[in-house]
Amino acid sequence: MDLFEYQARDLFAKHGVPVLAGEVIDTPEAAREATERLGGKSVVKAQVKVGGRGKAGGVKLAATPDEAVARATDILGMDIKGHTVHKVMIAETAPEIVEEYYVSYLLDRTNRTFLAMASVAGGMDIEEVAATTPEKLAKVPVNANEGVSIEKAREIVALAQFPAEVAEKVAEVLVTLWKTFVAEDALLVEVNPLAKVASGEVIALDGKVSLDENAEFRQPSHEELVDKAAANPLEAAAKEKGLNYVKLDGEVGIIGNGAGLVMSTLDVVAYAGENHGGVKPANFLDIGGGASAAVMANGLEIILGDPDVKSVFVNVFGGITACDEVANGIVQALQLLKDKGEEVTKPLVVRLDGNNAELGRKILSDANHPLVQRVDTMDGAADKAAELAAAAK
Ligand code: GDP
Ligand code: MN
Repeated sequence: MDLFEYQARDLFAKHGVPVLAGEVIDTPEAAREATERLGGKSVVKAQVKVGGRGKAGGVKLAATPDEAVARATDILGMDIKGHTVHKVMIAETAPEIVEEYYVSYLLDRTNRTFLAMASVAGGMDIEEVAATTPEKLAKVPVNANEGVSIEKAREIVALAQFPAEVAEKVAEVLVTLWKTFVAEDALLVEVNPLAKVASGEVIALDGKVSLDENAEFRQPSHEELVDKAAANPLEAAAKEKGLNYVKLDGEVGIIGNGAGLVMSTLDVVAYAGENHGGVKPANFLDIGGGASAAVMANGLEIILGDPDVKSVFVNVFGGITACDEVANGIVQALQLLKDKGEEVTKPLVVRLDGNNAELGRKILSDANHPLVQRVDTMDGAADKAAELAAAAK
């Protein structure tokens, strides 16, 4: 989960990374009071989860509270690389910036380690630095068990060739930033710029943090960092039901058991769709190995609640939970939905294979639901589902 800058700022402050005061607001008028609280001037910063806000005009200085209102008016509602600005941070202005550096930690999956990155060429375009002058970006593996002690931090600072007068201060920031990374179960913490100001202090002027959702269970406070306004309502509803669902932009609803099977189902449907006017999968939904009727009903309910869905492809390979149980699950799920007044109105194509396939198919045939069709091959069923979706478009 990626955080907004203001949330990163709060986490940095909590763990002792030097930051400036700031508060988040969502109306231009609120910029006035916030700026007054900061002594009459501020920086108005767009809060979007994408880099390059400065270049896009999303970071502006305001010399007076009135100017802050004007800048907030400009920035709120602005589109930055496809992200609409709904919130701005009103931040304390940095004392005169002398230099801009870059520091970060991230999980380096390829090398199965953590990585520290640091550069004296920070500011707006670290990707550019990495691409054109890689020697200016120090990359230092960090052992998970050893972490970043002050000695390790000094080693990173030396490799990145920070000027002597800020070396110790940057090393201290690296230690607190590592603490943030570990304590918050982050996958990425990045400061760009880490600014050297006229007084000689170094301050984190911009922060990017990505948290590891696998650690949710031991990070209850992270719940409130979730951007509920941005969550897709179908994904939110699926999450509440404990379903593994991702909304896509096509028309064929997909339910399968097992992530691998569902992934390949998306592929065959997209492929089949090419022959039917380009229809595509509407979602990913893995109901898992031991899917009960209740789980099947939950899955169908989410998928049928998606107005983009024109047909549904249920693709099941019977394993430990055999096809007859799954078939019964489907039949009961259709009844459950009917009882709830949400009777299925879109065509379902069901493909059952694997353990007890024959029995499962018989159960579906006997149930004789008018909107359910059985197709016994994966390609054939994908083609049928795509055809039905195209016809209903
Ligand atoms: P980004 O473009 O999305 O990375 O946004 P940043 O928060 O990094 O801001 C971009 C640039 O604006 C920074 O590199 C700084 O040069 C400048 N900036 C940010 N905060 C301040 C500030 O408080 N005072 C001044 N003078 N400049 C700032
Ligand atoms: Mn930045």
